[in-house]
Amino acid sequence: TDLVHRAVTGRVPPERVEVSLSHARYDVMVGAGLVARAGALLTPVLPQKRVVVVTDETVAALHLPTLLASLAETGIDAESIIVPPGEGSKSLACFGMVTDRLLALGIERRTAVIALGGGVIGDLAGFAAASVMRGLPFVQIPTTLLAQVDSSVGGKTGINTSAGKNLLGAFHQPIAVVADTDMLATLPIRELRAGYAEILKAGLIADPDLFEWCEANGAAVLAGDPAIQADAVRRACRFKAGVVGDDEREEKPDNGRALLNLGHTFAHALEAEMRFDGRLLHGEAVGIGLLLAFRLSVRLGLCPAADADRVEAHLRRLGMKTTIDDCGCALSASALAAHMQRDKKMRDGRISFVLVHRIGQAFTSRDIASSAVIELLQSQGC
Ligand code: NAD
Ligand code: MG
Repeated sequence: TDLVHRAVTGRVPPERVEVSLSHARYDVMVGAGLVARAGALLTPVLPQKRVVVVTDETVAALHLPTLLASLAETGIDAESIIVPPGEGSKSLACFGMVTDRLLALGIERRTAVIALGGGVIGDLAGFAAASVMRGLPFVQIPTTLLAQVDSSVGGKTGINTSAGKNLLGAFHQPIAVVADTDMLATLPIRELRAGYAEILKAGLIADPDLFEWCEANGAAVLAGDPAIQADAVRRACRFKAGVVGDDEREEKPDNGRALLNLGHTFAHALEAEMRFDGRLLHGEAVGIGLLLAFRLSVRLGLCPAADADRVEAHLRRLGMKTTIDDCGCALSASALAAHMQRDKKMRDGRISFVLVHRIGQAFTSRDIASSAVIELLQSQGC
């Protein structure tokens, strides 16, 4: 089919990472210039030549015209729903607006929903697609690095409630993911760094070669080199596809999707303590959290200090946040620990933690006493 594609379009086909699940399979297409030919790339998987694009105002201004033009070129009828940018749109009110609009457009069961945006749009549009008429076909066109390497793959969708983040949602796998490095050219450097933390996480969990690749190429990813960015996205997606293929619904207690939470117990606590007010991006919190997970592992005698030092050196070299101090406000160790105990990853009253034996070898542990966590945080000036 690649030869056919080349003959028809005169272009080199995008590289693909396959996600293979028990009841679904789909490709993550990765490369440059893909949104400009999204119509041709999606035609083989769309059940109907009709789609509704969900996006946010920022992304709409930058990239929606390119997408709509390429859909029109291939005779795909498209309408759009545009929501405000930011985490605030992952709300019940916004979800209701999107689902009302979808229904008002007179869509059918075969009409696909396309998410064009970052993780907020992917989660919101994906949950709308999962819910309307009990499930519409769904396409992800992630436009942030975080969404390209993490949130667009794996089928988790959802919104926030007043009780917490991502508490209302569904598993709804896309039929295709289009990760176009052209989208990243307009992304602020702070958002690029935040997404980069999730690439690094993949290497630290189970792929020491990926970590070494990051040491050699991380600066080029952040500098905007499209070929290196595409390589990074493919590597991270291949990693996530493997994990998700092995544990689609996070049912394995120890070594499946749970490992993807490396650094996240700390990150969620930091984000929650700062009340998600925008001073700390999720990926920034993850960078700090990754290093804290290494430092905790070192304190518990599980990991050599040299590995934690190497992670810290890499984060620093790329200008990433590394310490709780970098959050820019005073946080208390006991308040952070209290957040961790409320984390939804908690099981039978013990904090379930992802720790490391070394770079590229993470494991889950349910035996971490909160005193060890508090001592670590206090040693970090908390
Ligand atoms: P986001 O979607 O809010 O995007 C960040 C900002 O960048 C927004 O202001 C957006 O308008 C802007 N933006 C997006 N693309 C742009 C582009 N190409 N050029 C310029 N600006 C652009 O945030 P995010 O970091 O992409 O995603 C965070 C969300 O993802 C969180 O809600 C998180 O819970 C969710 N998430 C979900 C999963 C999952 O598996 N479903 C995994 C990780 C994170
Ligand atoms: Mg994350």
